[in-house]
Amino acid sequence: MTPPVTVITGGSRGIGAATARRLAAAGHHLALGYRRDHATAEAVATELRATGVRVVAVPADTRDPDQVSALFDAAAALGPVTGLVNNAGITSPIGPFTDLRVDDLREVVDVNLVGYVLCAQQAAHRMTDGAAIVNISSVAATLGSPGEYVHYAAVKAATDALTIGLAKELAPRGIRVNAVAPGIIRTDIHALSGQPDRPDRAAARIPLGRPGEPDEVAAAVAWLLSPDASYTTGAVLRVGGGL
Ligand code: NAP
Repeated sequence: MTPPVTVITGGSRGIGAATARRLAAAGHHLALGYRRDHATAEAVATELRATGVRVVAVPADTRDPDQVSALFDAAAALGPVTGLVNNAGITSPIGPFTDLRVDDLREVVDVNLVGYVLCAQQAAHRMTDGAAIVNISSVAATLGSPGEYVHYAAVKAATDALTIGLAKELAPRGIRVNAVAPGIIRTDIHALSGQPDRPDRAAARIPLGRPGEPDEVAAAVAWLLSPDASYTTGAVLRVGGGL
């Protein structure tokens, strides 16, 4: 059987890198996209090549259609593309809604929505029967993130709508589309939004009493991409410790 070939955007760090490790262990060849941190992306690729799969690390800003197309070309050189993990995402500085700057709003929409749509469109053009897309959403889509980043939550709700619509549109071609909605997961994203200790501070309000680890999200992504999820499409799978 030909090995699956999966594109992971934002595959250099956090949830994307954990997903890459899971999928490599399941025998996927991988194209890992990243924006600027070449050394970190290449280090993940080198680590995973040592496990016997083919991995390319590709600079691809998901806001740019040409770079997205080049990422999928690099993946196609490994074999027919069978999976996309739409993961590259950002927040902006945590704070009240009234302090939100329009530049931060536009960047969140650009990366977390326009980027996801551009990648899903490439996938939809190229994928065939049996392929699958997983969009990384957030529990924020249904909780709203008051006082932190309501605009980010709104864009993650758009991810869920994208998932539901695309699942229906692509189902006749045998392509499944699902989302994973993580809760508060221990990655660099919190430091980048100005609160590195956010996961630990939030532990008391998480029903399971702790933040999640990237690999716990990766496990859900790997399942949704696998043949075990062959009848699952249009689902938003919450991985939030009860949030
Ligand atoms: P992270 O650790 O900050 O990693 C973000 C990744 O995305 C990096 O590989 C980064 O690459 C890449 N990236 C950022 N902007 C990009 C762009 N314009 N084009 C291409 N790549 C870009 O983030 P994370 O916590 O793993 O988050 C991954 C996804 O999970 C995001 O969609 C996020 O919204 C979602 N999520 C996270 C949490 C959480 O608590 N961590 C909770 C719910 C949902 P460079 O390093 O090269 O910039």
